[in-house]
Amino acid sequence: MRIQPAGPPSAYKTYSIKAPLSTHFRHATCEEVACPDFLYGWRVRKENLTPALLHTATHCGRKYTELHVAEGETYLVYEAGQSCFQSARHRTRVERPELYIVRDGDHRGNPRGTPNRIHKRAEDWAEDLHEHTDKLNTTLKEG
Ligand SMILES: [Zn+2]
Repeated sequence: MRIQPAGPPSAYKTYSIKAPLSTHFRHATCEEVACPDFLYGWRVRKENLTPALLHTATHCGRKYTELHVAEGETYLVYEAGQSCFQSARHRTRVERPELYIVRDGDHRGNPRGTPNRIHKRAEDWAEDLHEHTDKLNTTLKEG
């Protein structure tokens, strides 16, 4: 739920801090993210896999054993220390400061099309926010 703004988008400024996936993260190994499958091993129920997935699971180069529990219930058991099936999706933050963004407008847009202002330091962004807040308070007091 969002509070309905009283004024038009041009009357607002939006302050945000961002660390985009494309610039502030990199691919990481299972070991780097302490992936539970990597740490403890994992198992997959064979009957739940499509023939294509079963082929991939058994031909991916990972070491596994088959555990037959009951009729129609067999597991492929993968030992710890191997990259898991989700390893391509593991990400970790890179050492790069967040982007401290100030943009005109709000969630409805930036009708004047003014460019975003991106501060390099958190202190500058905070100062910008304080100055803006002071200006708003002064305007409110003056009526
Ligand atoms: Zn993993």
